[in-house]
Amino acid sequence: MSRFFSSKYSALTPYTPGEQPKERKYIKLNTNESPFPPSPAVVEAAKAEAGRLQLYSDPTCRELTDKLAALYGVSPEQVILTNGSDEVLNFAFMAFADEDHPLVFPEITYGFYPVFAELNRIPYEEIPLKEDFSVDYRDYLNLNGKTIVIANPNAPTGLCLTLSEIEAIVKSNPDGVVIIDEAYVDFGAESAVALVDKYENLLVTQTFSKSRSLAGARLGFGIG
Ligand code: PMP
Repeated sequence: MSRFFSSKYSALTPYTPGEQPKERKYIKLNTNESPFPPSPAVVEAAKAEAGRLQLYSDPTCRELTDKLAALYGVSPEQVILTNGSDEVLNFAFMAFADEDHPLVFPEITYGFYPVFAELNRIPYEEIPLKEDFSVDYRDYLNLNGKTIVIANPNAPTGLCLTLSEIEAIVKSNPDGVVIIDEAYVDFGAESAVALVDKYENLLVTQTFSKSRSLAGARLGFGIG
């Protein structure tokens, strides 16, 4: 049916997801899933819920929203749950970026950012990494209303910015949203959630896919 495709989409280069081999004899590393299975408590909870699958799930995901809010010391209104953090990232791009607020992100980072930008027809600028592959936070200061997205730690470099460097970026861009993608935060970066009450232009995204061993659950969230 491709000849009926809207021209909006026909020119897009699709994101190529990492391979999922059918034989399960490897420890997979290519898509950064956890090699460890989820907690037995998660398996038990999922089993209990499976018996209620005839019902639609709670559209507000109240129970988990409240738990996350308590865990991070924010109010439930500051939490949004999505189908993977890919979805909250896409929503944030749709909500906060456009011709007047182009996206800015590192030249080497999560490959979905340019795909989501193109999907939503948002112009974007890529900033080169330093020679040692780290992000220079000074490149992101005073960008005047642009929408900044930084994975911290960055992927695939695994290198992170400090919390005070992130705060400097957020503080110097009061008219632009700063999205900090913390998919890998539990592997050794300080979370910027600590700053959300101080800055209205900060959105932090996290996922259950990596450190929480639940990639198949497609569960992500944003805190702002
Ligand atoms: N951000 C980064 C940096 C990632 O590497 C990934 C996973 N590939 C995601 C976000 C999205 O993961 P998920 O949709 O499973 O939460």
